[in-house]
Amino acid sequence: MNMAVEDARREDAQMGNSQIENVPTENTTTTQPCALCELTGGDNEIAEAVNAYVLENMGRVHLREMATQVCEQINKIPGKNMTPAQFEEHVRHHMRHQRVVLSMLLDDLLGVAGRARDACVVVDSETSAQHVDAKMLTAYLKTIDSINALYRSEALRERRE
Ligand SMILES: [Zn+2]
Repeated sequence: MNMAVEDARREDAQMGNSQIENVPTENTTTTQPCALCELTGGDNEIAEAVNAYVLENMGRVHLREMATQVCEQINKIPGKNMTPAQFEEHVRHHMRHQRVVLSMLLDDLLGVAGRARDACVVVDSETSAQHVDAKMLTAYLKTIDSINALYRSEALRERRE
């Protein structure tokens, strides 16, 4: 972020200036209707095939590859358009199927675990001595526990079969 902008924002915050809070939140979210949500439950064969593909392959195919394939199919439907970013939003925020939610949760937890693991060992910039950050280590181990709990859950066990 531009430092000048950051400073200005900090000043605004200190002065209780509500200018930034007044910016409508709609500016940051997509207001376009979601093509997949619109089509799901109808009798569109492509949409039904896409939904089946997503549920079948969630956690087995990378989300980005899924997005490429799904958008290619959706964009064949006259009047419908979907970008990879819209597809990811659909999967992350619109779908509530247990398999999808758990898969996204696993994704997040793996990301957190990786960052916590990297932050566990702290190197002293002057002496180059290494020491373990106890708080980070605890956070890492808790994250690993959560990941293990997810794997034990019925839905993911099914997915592996
Ligand atoms: Zn959607």
